[in-house]
Amino acid sequence: THFGFRDVAEEDKESLVHEVFANVASKYDVMNDAMSMGVHRIWKDEFIRSMAPGPGTKLLDVAGGTGDIALRFLDYCKNVHHDNTATVKLVDINPHMLGEGEKRFQKTAYANTNQASFLVQNAEHLDEIPDESVDVYTIAFGIRNCTHVDKVVKEAHRVLKKGGRFMCLEFSKVDNPVIGKFYDIYSFDIIPALGQAIAGDRDSYQYLVESIRQFPPQEEFAQIIRDAGFKTIGKGYEDLTFGVAAIHSGFKI
Ligand code: SAM
Repeated sequence: THFGFRDVAEEDKESLVHEVFANVASKYDVMNDAMSMGVHRIWKDEFIRSMAPGPGTKLLDVAGGTGDIALRFLDYCKNVHHDNTATVKLVDINPHMLGEGEKRFQKTAYANTNQASFLVQNAEHLDEIPDESVDVYTIAFGIRNCTHVDKVVKEAHRVLKKGGRFMCLEFSKVDNPVIGKFYDIYSFDIIPALGQAIAGDRDSYQYLVESIRQFPPQEEFAQIIRDAGFKTIGKGYEDLTFGVAAIHSGFKI
């Protein structure tokens, strides 16, 4: 397939990723539920629980897309701390995805507040985000789409305040051979077929599966995070669902 990573020159990856997310933007939320059988919701809930943001936290949610992380974050602050001073800036390279996010926020309690803002920007060059300006940086299911993962993590380090936390939720590597076998069948056969059936777009979903295969395994990614200057606690990550996904985290000290 022309969406295969190995066949794509590095400089073409960004436009390919743009095309994929422009194609899937309107069906993105439905497809997420269909492909993960709803499990992505559990992972995202766990991601926010693991962050445990305090009142007034300033979050930068990069590759924020349709706002799943941003909304859960604000809901957590409201429900746990009765806090309406926490803020989130959603950043995404793709205006179609960000537009879906803005539309969605318009229907929530956060519409017309200053708690959520939106910015089109590449995770590799967060030019409009000042140094040491955010408490927490999140990137969920976004970093594997970026061309230079190390640049993304270094930008995260730049924009975080001292004591701030980098958190990434991403598909990762299953190391159980039995589960791995099922997972292979599911991702190589079923996901592209679901993409065709629900969104009429096999290629974009084929791309998503291949991008998951290309992303570095847990340990390697944890090392990239340490190389960018972050301090990790323990091994620096937590597996979710046998490593189908993982939460990586590091602190700027
Ligand atoms: N974080 C959301 C979630 O968990 O539902 C959206 C994840 S979606 C799979 C990936 C998002 O990454 C898309 O909205 C895409 O436009 C965005 N993206 C891809 N490359 C990017 C880059 N270089 N900089 C910023 N966003 C990027």
